[in-house]
Amino acid sequence: MTELLYHTDSYMREFTAVVVDVQGQDVRLDRTAFYPGGGGQPADAGELGWEGGGSRLVGMRKDAGGLWHTVEGPPPPAGASLQGRLDWERRYPLMRTHTAMHILCGVIFRQYGASVTGGQMEPLRGRMDFEFASMHQDLVREIEGLINREVEAARPVRARSLPRAEAFQIPDLIRTKINLLPPGIPEVRVVEIEGLDLQADGGTHVANTREVGPLKIVDYKSKGAINKRLVVALEP
Ligand SMILES: [Zn+2]
Repeated sequence: MTELLYHTDSYMREFTAVVVDVQGQDVRLDRTAFYPGGGGQPADAGELGWEGGGSRLVGMRKDAGGLWHTVEGPPPPAGASLQGRLDWERRYPLMRTHTAMHILCGVIFRQYGASVTGGQMEPLRGRMDFEFASMHQDLVREIEGLINREVEAARPVRARSLPRAEAFQIPDLIRTKINLLPPGIPEVRVVEIEGLDLQADGGTHVANTREVGPLKIVDYKSKGAINKRLVVALEP
């Protein structure tokens, strides 16, 4: 399996790895700091370099063997050592946005008892759907105030891996539908915003809520009788 460097250090912008396997334009590495996408967070962009060549990262895919990185032009040979460099101008805003989404989840559940039904993000903008009976302007402004208070509270954000059995006994994790995780995964990675939110999550986050910066709820709409959507924007 490919070692997922971004799981333990989301701030890693450059890394070295060894090419384990090559299939066409796809290169499997022994380790990577590139996030392949998932959980509403899009895949990273960046560059790969090796002796005698290099390429933009044009895609990623996952299989039982690990993570494959798609390159343009001639790929490096198996066994080659390779340098990866993330497009940090894209990744760091995505980290801030992802943490902003968790702040929103945490606030909405704590304050209103409402659960998330879906979400999606791009750099500096994200949307989440909640099980909310009604949504209106006053409530939106109230939520906006509450999420900004959590940014200012400078809460630490931590990721760690727990044994599956242990994770399944934590009420916060059960609430966020941990039971949807595929069976057979021995460990569950969890992301915690201290004192606010805890959920099973494979994405990349900032280390402290203050890095998210000021938040605005720029749009809201009804997505049916049960689901209400909030759209949040971050400052550059
Ligand atoms: Zn998440």
